[in-house]
Amino acid sequence: MHRTIDVDCCVAGGGPAGVMAGLLFARAGCSTLVLEKHADFLRDFRGDTVHPSTLEVMHELGVLEEFLQRPHDQLSKLSGIFGGRRLDVTDFSSLNARCKFIAFMPQWHFLDFLTEKAAAMPTFSIKMRAEVTGLIEESGSRIIGVEATTPEGPLTIRSKLVIGADGRRSLVRREAGLKVKDVGAPINVMWFRIPREETGNDEPLLNTGRGHILITINRGDYHQCAYVIPKGAAEQVKGGGIESFRNAVTDTAPRLRPQISALTSFEQVSLLTVTIDRLEQWSRPGLVMIGDAAHAMSPVGGVGINLAIQDAVAAANLLSGPLADGTLEDDDLAQVRKRRLWPTKATQFAQVRAQNNIIAPLISDPHKTPAPPLPLVIVSKVPWLQRRLAALIGLGVRPEHVRSPEKFKLRV
Ligand SMILES: Cc1cc2nc3c(=O)[nH]c(=O)nc-3n(C[C@H](O)[C@H](O)[C@H](O)COP(=O)(O)OP(=O)(O)OC[C@H]3O[C@@H](n4cnc5c(N)ncnc54)[C@H](O)[C@@H]3O)c2cc1C
Repeated sequence: MHRTIDVDCCVAGGGPAGVMAGLLFARAGCSTLVLEKHADFLRDFRGDTVHPSTLEVMHELGVLEEFLQRPHDQLSKLSGIFGGRRLDVTDFSSLNARCKFIAFMPQWHFLDFLTEKAAAMPTFSIKMRAEVTGLIEESGSRIIGVEATTPEGPLTIRSKLVIGADGRRSLVRREAGLKVKDVGAPINVMWFRIPREETGNDEPLLNTGRGHILITINRGDYHQCAYVIPKGAAEQVKGGGIESFRNAVTDTAPRLRPQISALTSFEQVSLLTVTIDRLEQWSRPGLVMIGDAAHAMSPVGGVGINLAIQDAVAAANLLSGPLADGTLEDDDLAQVRKRRLWPTKATQFAQVRAQNNIIAPLISDPHKTPAPPLPLVIVSKVPWLQRRLAALIGLGVRPEHVRSPEKFKLRV
C-alpha cells in the first residue's frame, strides 16, 4: 500500500549526522522524520570515536553525565612508535573543554542513545528499513520530499526541508545533481580485531614497522586495528596469504604476537576505501546536505563523526528556528555551507598533508626501518604545538555550540 506522510523536516540517513540533526530539529519543535535503510545501528565497525567537541554538545543538551555512564574507554594521549622510538604527540589534558579525552564507544551505542533521547519528544520519529530511493521535485527546481521503500510498501514523504545525511555514497546528492570535488587519498585501510589482554602498560596508538603502519585502538578485551596500505594494494596483500599478513602485523606491533593466531582468514578483515571529497554546492531549494554526504573525510585523526555532528549542530542553529516558525527562506540553506566549508577544507587540507608527508613515506619502503617523521618530532618537542594538535583533533576547526531553540527538553 502506498502511503504519504507530511513533516516539516525529513532526514535521509540515520548515521551520526542524520540522527543528531533529527534530534535537534525535533527539539526545536519541527516535526521530523529520519529514514534509515538498515534495520538497526549494529553494523560493521565505522569508528567508535566520540570527540571532546561532541561531548561538549552532549553537555549543552544536558545529557553528558548520563551518556558517560554507558560503557566506554577514554583516550587522553596520542603517541606512536617509530623504529623502536616512542613519540608523544598529543595530550588532550590541556584542552579547553569539559571532557579532556576522546571517548571510545561503539557507534551503535552512541546512535541508540541519541535516538532514545530524541524518541521521547512528540516531534521526532525514525523509520528503520526505510531506504530513500528518490527526491520529489516541484517545477523542476524545488525539492519537496523524498520517495522511500519500506517493508510495508512504498512511502512518500512531503517535507518543507530535506536533509541529505546518507553518507559518502549519498543517493540524495546524486539525485539532486550536486557535483563532487574529489580531493584524493593515496591510502586504503584494512580493519580487523585482535583479542587483547590487560598489561597495565600505556599502549601507543600508532605503530610503524618496515613499510607498515598499524593503528591499534585499545577497546578493552580487543584491539581494533587499522592496517594502512597504498591505494590498490589490498589484492597484493591478500595474495601474500594470511600468515604473511599476520607477520607484518606482529613485526609492526610485537605486543600483538600472543593473540595474533585469532586472525585466521581475510574474512575477518574489511577494507575501507579511503576517500576525501566535498560537494561544490551543499544545498538546493528545499534540500541541504551535511556530514559525509557533503564531504567524505580520511580516517586520519578519526574526525569524520565529529565533523558530521558539527554540521548537524550548525544546520539546526541556522535553520531549525526559521523552519519551526515558518519563516525559512531558500537563501538560508546556503548558510550551512558558508558556515561549515572552512572547517571542512582546513581539516581535509591537514589530512592530505598528513597522508602525503607522514603516512605515504612510512609505507613506501618495506626494507627501511621507519624513522620518526620530522613534523611529529617537532610537535613532540614543542608543547604549544601539542596543544594546537590536541585542539585540532579534539575540538576541530570552528567548534559548534548548540544554539537552536529548545521547545522540548531532553529527558534525563
Ligand atoms: C571502517 C571505517 C572506520 C571509520 N573510523 C572512524 C573513526 O575512528 N572516527 C571517525 O570520526 N570516523 C570514522 N569513520 C568515518 C565515519 O564513520 C563517518 O565520517 C561518519 O559516520 C559520518 O557520519 P554521517 O552520518 O555523515 O554518515 P554515515 O555514518 O555514513 O551515515 C549515513 C547513514 O545513511 C544511511 N543511508 C545511506 N543511504 C541511504 C538511503 N538511500 N536511505 C536511507 N538511509 C541511507 C546509512 O545506512 C547510514 O546509516 C570511519 C568510517 C569507516 C567506514
